Amino acid sequence: MAPPRRVCVTGGGGYIASWLVKLLLSRGYAVHATVRDPCDSKNAHLMQLDGAAENLRLFKADVLDRATLAAAVEGCEGVFHLASPVPVAKLVDPESEVLAPAVKGTMNILEVCSSMKVQKVVVVSSTASVHFNPNWPQGKPKDESCWSDRKFCLDNELWYCAAKTVAEEMTWEYADKNGLNVVTVCPCIVFGPQLQPIVNSSSDLLLYVIKGGPNAMKNMMWDIVDVRDVSDALLLVYENTISSGRYICAPNYVNTKAMLELLKKTYPGYNYVKCKGDVLDPNSPLTPTSSEKLRNLGWKPRELEDTLLDSIEYYKKTGILQDTKEEGHTCRLPDLFSFFHAAEE
Ligand code: NAP
Repeated sequence: MAPPRRVCVTGGGGYIASWLVKLLLSRGYAVHATVRDPCDSKNAHLMQLDGAAENLRLFKADVLDRATLAAAVEGCEGVFHLASPVPVAKLVDPESEVLAPAVKGTMNILEVCSSMKVQKVVVVSSTASVHFNPNWPQGKPKDESCWSDRKFCLDNELWYCAAKTVAEEMTWEYADKNGLNVVTVCPCIVFGPQLQPIVNSSSDLLLYVIKGGPNAMKNMMWDIVDVRDVSDALLLVYENTISSGRYICAPNYVNTKAMLELLKKTYPGYNYVKCKGDVLDPNSPLTPTSSEKLRNLGWKPRELEDTLLDSIEYYKKTGILQDTKEEGHTCRLPDLFSFFHAAEE
């Protein structure tokens, strides 16, 4: 029997990466997953996945330490790069907390992949590197040719958006110069059930909506993708020999009001955040994007309703929604989503 195809997933214990590791194992891949601390209980779910005992190895690695990445990539035909901070709190030192791990971390993994002759690298970027472009024509759906303006992001202290934009721009410069086979995928806001035990930033956003604030939100467009569809997209672009360039991964558009109605229809009993205004916020950076390129490769994302309802079912099952301030998990709007906040009156 041929040995399994071997790939590396960086940041393997994270929200999206955990689903990707699960998917890869289910498809018979041998997986090298990097985590910063293999002994931390927040990564314990990985070795419980089906097939993990035979085909999953955890590697202790920090993206700022190239030697640790090289040990994990050795022997792998492909690499999925997901390790990058998605901060919840307001940043004190954006350079060390987000910019360096995103940008230098991506450079490190690309250099390791080049030196080890990795056949294909899938880098997870974000629609944060697409949306923040003040020069994009109004009303025109954004596609893969639309890039966030790094100066606009830095001037407006949108540190996460700046980090993802610079990291992806640099990825393309590096790939072109060094002949590395790279594909980037830009997911929008990711919801859906978790495999990891700790709540990640985008799940915190949905919990804030369901638990009800404390602050009201603007009525604006949201772009939402299911975490399971993101992992499908990552494997699809990896396995498809003709995939190339960037892929926007943002199938669902809904405004705050409509999303709340959709949630309340099935689960009327939660507090839910207040939504201010019937008219859509005209200044929102989130405007429709097209995922046509990814769909043309055969990507079939699920309906938004399934994602939202499966998320709530997961939160109910784990008791996350019952948490109170005293018990620990307070309702917090991750700072990177602060543009959803409605202005105080
Ligand atoms: P997550 O659960 O917070 O995962 C982020 C991972 O990055 C964690 O495993 C974290 O490891 C790791 N990491 C952070 N700094 C690191 C460092 N210096 N060295 C090594 N690992 C480091 O978030 P996620 O939502 O799954 O995000 C995964 C990727 O998807 C990120 O690149 C993110 O930008 C991108 N993305 C996410 C969304 C979304 O809505 N969730 C949307 C678009 C793109 P520790 O556990 O050790 O901190």
